[in-house]
Amino acid sequence: MKTRPFDVRALLVVLALAASVVPAKADGVQQAPIPKGVTRVVSGAHPNASGGGPLEPPTDFMTDAQREAIGKEVADNVERLRLVGKLAALVPDVHPLFAWPLRLAPGLTDPGYHGISNFVDLDPDFPNLLLDYNCGARSYDRSDGYNHRGSDIFTWPWGWRKMDRSEIQIVAAAPGQIIYRSDGNFDRSCGFNNDNWNAIFVGHADGSQAWYGHMKNGSVTPKQVGEFVAQGEYLGVVGSSGNSTGPHLHFEVYNASSQLIEPWFGPCNNLNPETWWANQRPYYDSAVDRITTGATPVNFPACPTAESPNSQSAFPVGSTIYFTTYYRDQRDTQSSHYTIYRPNGSIYASWDHSGPAAHYAASYWYWGFVFSGEMQGTWRFTVEFESQVYERFFSYGSPAACGIVPETEAQGGPLVLQKIGTSVRLTWGASCSPSDTDYSVYEGAIGNFSSHSRLTCTTSSNTTAIIAPAAGGRYFLIGARNATSESSLGLMSNGAERPVGVISCAPRFSLQCP
Ligand SMILES: [Zn+2]
Repeated sequence: MKTRPFDVRALLVVLALAASVVPAKADGVQQAPIPKGVTRVVSGAHPNASGGGPLEPPTDFMTDAQREAIGKEVADNVERLRLVGKLAALVPDVHPLFAWPLRLAPGLTDPGYHGISNFVDLDPDFPNLLLDYNCGARSYDRSDGYNHRGSDIFTWPWGWRKMDRSEIQIVAAAPGQIIYRSDGNFDRSCGFNNDNWNAIFVGHADGSQAWYGHMKNGSVTPKQVGEFVAQGEYLGVVGSSGNSTGPHLHFEVYNASSQLIEPWFGPCNNLNPETWWANQRPYYDSAVDRITTGATPVNFPACPTAESPNSQSAFPVGSTIYFTTYYRDQRDTQSSHYTIYRPNGSIYASWDHSGPAAHYAASYWYWGFVFSGEMQGTWRFTVEFESQVYERFFSYGSPAACGIVPETEAQGGPLVLQKIGTSVRLTWGASCSPSDTDYSVYEGAIGNFSSHSRLTCTTSSNTTAIIAPAAGGRYFLIGARNATSESSLGLMSNGAERPVGVISCAPRFSLQCP
């Protein structure tokens, strides 16, 4: 009798376990746990192609000579600032708490854009004797005795493309004074060429320092040594200058005594007793950085050629459509659930997959489906991963959705106005969707930003137009067009979509880019 409560409890445990490892899917079929690296079709259409895998994330190096030269330059800068009375006064013993040192350029909305390839190597021995703050080996060292001294945060997916488009900005993790600045160096390094890097070093109020290295050439903040930066202030764009195998930020930290700090705190951090992050991210920060739809799979050419995402959101009838998901910190204990929904909400296909390896810093997987005799309209692709749902809309057949024209430099060049006598020349970047063959131009009165009306519904496929504006302050908007639809006119400063024109050219039907 005494064992009865125990038995009941044991039974409950067994039931709970059964429910967690054999989930009942929407179609009610009980599924066995998904084997590692295997695609399991849950319902609907079967893919006719699949692929993907891990990508080797960037790594870096600095020679002793480079380190010595930089150290001397920093010391000289600090001494010069001290002599002219411009060195910031110190507030000892309160180290900064870092904000995240990267952000998306304005106008971009990717769910993620980075991964981490290396932490500080806390094991002084070498080679291949690695210890990160969490007692793992996500770091590297070299046979010449170099143990990695920072955090390598790489941009992903398409790091070269992101660099070319200046999509990922490095920002100050903590406020302080610029004590070292370097720009003008080659930024497409694929290996250890012993070039110098483009970098900013910031001295903090407590005397500690943060180094931000490998920036894109010409992107470094115009602020000079001695000037101050606020937390979150722009410092540069992620690049691959110096000894670097691809675009990433090397973030290296020292305390006021010039001792190396590992800002990530964990059981094997033998350098400092607490985190230096305001909100330390998890060791495995698993997430989806991006999902795309495309007519062909992504292409990763040899370094340093920019990647081709081959992403589009409008597909003609009979297309094969590839569905690609880009992960950071993907683990084999994690499963993704993918679903493609028809325009009426019914499921065209759903499948599950988990990665085959214990950990990938960067990985991607894609599946291709032949669309034939299917419903036309707006479809939806969703990825469920680690309790998050990521979604992307695409159009199949008619009506075909339009892309948008770029709103920022990062997207390929915003609308530029040039006055020519009493006329204005408008020039803009092409739509992100190749099926958009024309553009419409709208004009409105500044002060009433919903007053725009169509000026012309065709520019004969040109990405420039000369128009004669009405009197007073005027604003102009460009819509991308195809045979049946017109794109969004972009977002307002509050993030909401701009209203359609008072008189517009075609029904609005606009999807995500690229
Ligand atoms: Zn590094």
